[in-house]
Amino acid sequence: MIRALVTIAFGLAGAGPASSDDRPADLVIRGGRVIDPESGLDAVRNVVVRDGRIVDVTDRPVRGAHIIDASGLVVAPGFIDLHAHGQQLPAARMQAFDGVTTAMELESGVADVGEYYERVAREGRPINYGVSASWSDVRERILKDSAVADDEQLRRILKGLEQGLSEGALGIGITVGYAPESGAKEFHAINALAADRGVVTFSHIRYGSVIEPGSSFAALEEVIAVAATTGAQMHICHLNSSTLRDVDAAVKLIRSAQERGLPISVEAYPYSAASTNIGATFYRGPQWRERLGGARYEDFELNGQPLDERSFLELQTHRPDTLIVYNYLRPERNPLDQGYLDQSVLYPGGAIASDGVWWTRDGKLLDGDVWPIPADAYAHPRSAGTFTRLLRVYVRERQKLTLSQAIEKASLIPALILERSVAEMKNKGRLRAGADADIIVFDAQTVSDRATFERPAQTAAGMRYVIVNGSPVIANGQLIRSARPGRGIRRGSIDK
Ligand SMILES: [Zn+2]
Repeated sequence: MIRALVTIAFGLAGAGPASSDDRPADLVIRGGRVIDPESGLDAVRNVVVRDGRIVDVTDRPVRGAHIIDASGLVVAPGFIDLHAHGQQLPAARMQAFDGVTTAMELESGVADVGEYYERVAREGRPINYGVSASWSDVRERILKDSAVADDEQLRRILKGLEQGLSEGALGIGITVGYAPESGAKEFHAINALAADRGVVTFSHIRYGSVIEPGSSFAALEEVIAVAATTGAQMHICHLNSSTLRDVDAAVKLIRSAQERGLPISVEAYPYSAASTNIGATFYRGPQWRERLGGARYEDFELNGQPLDERSFLELQTHRPDTLIVYNYLRPERNPLDQGYLDQSVLYPGGAIASDGVWWTRDGKLLDGDVWPIPADAYAHPRSAGTFTRLLRVYVRERQKLTLSQAIEKASLIPALILERSVAEMKNKGRLRAGADADIIVFDAQTVSDRATFERPAQTAAGMRYVIVNGSPVIANGQLIRSARPGRGIRRGSIDK
């Protein structure tokens, strides 16, 4: 059945010589509008794939074992998501429909890095995957609360993180925003370790507040100071939800740090609602609603339904791990709010990353060979529509980005953020000879997110082909359920 589908999808062309090699190409994507932001290429070309790599991008006619007719379609490097909490098979499939060919959990990470890579490799994934070493998980095994670590505890935390790095972690995930009382010296020491090992840290910054003291602005100043004094390459997760309505001051601060040569990068997702546990520290304590910029209880939703004060407090007290959605901006009511979101999404040199969460159904994690995701399963819609939403809203409808600029933010920029420490990323995020054949073929006129807050479990539309390491995962807009060409991206690994 699967084989038949693939054969129908590709059609069989005469196997002939490819352009620059005697052997026939495995796959030719013929006659699409090829966009490669790195070289600036935006022209009709044939893309030639062999052994999982792009071997040629040419305007000469090419024959191959399999042909995809891409005329009228865009051919681009697959999207690279630096921030994908949903690492299960169904979550990865949902992201494939969003054009994602590599999804990495770098913000939170995991404590047992080797175990993660071995387990995911055993299960197989349609798209590439990877993980950072988790500061919070390592720390949780050593400290029971989020207080300041003493010298011995800090030594053990650093040892735990070093273990993760030795097992191939792609960096260190530091969700300090969930433990804002942890020490400044600890945050510094972790980044010093990262600098020493030549890896990136991915921070959910402290506080998340528009008012002083303990503001997002102060948290960004901490990141900048630590980057300057440790030399660490530091990445700021979800700039949009961490800076809230103080984004104007935040982006000026970040830009000034970058202009002074500090290796700081940012990412954002194109939604005005965030999602995390209702028990999170920034939804509690004195003046917490003022600190978020005037949050109301009805700005919080559970499964698409707004909460009120009573249901909010009840959930927070009895089920603090419940994932809720928080409308931190209200662009539909306040035109200024759209501008705030735009500043994060459009930040020059910033990546797009989903912060996509796992799918649950009846409160249980959706895992294993599940497809399609049941209509009543829930996740923030960013788990299904971040990248196609960028293409629909920011390119097609509002024309804030050119197609090439959007593709750059979703593929090349995340590759650039990682490639100094993860050499494999030098061959991702590009559509050129020598690059990995992680390729998407989509209809620029119809590509669109479909997931909504009320009905998130809907695949994005418009991705006609999604190719990972040379193999199709989506063909003719349909998932190839048996396809598992995704590879673990693991530091120090050789093509593993
Ligand atoms: Zn976060």
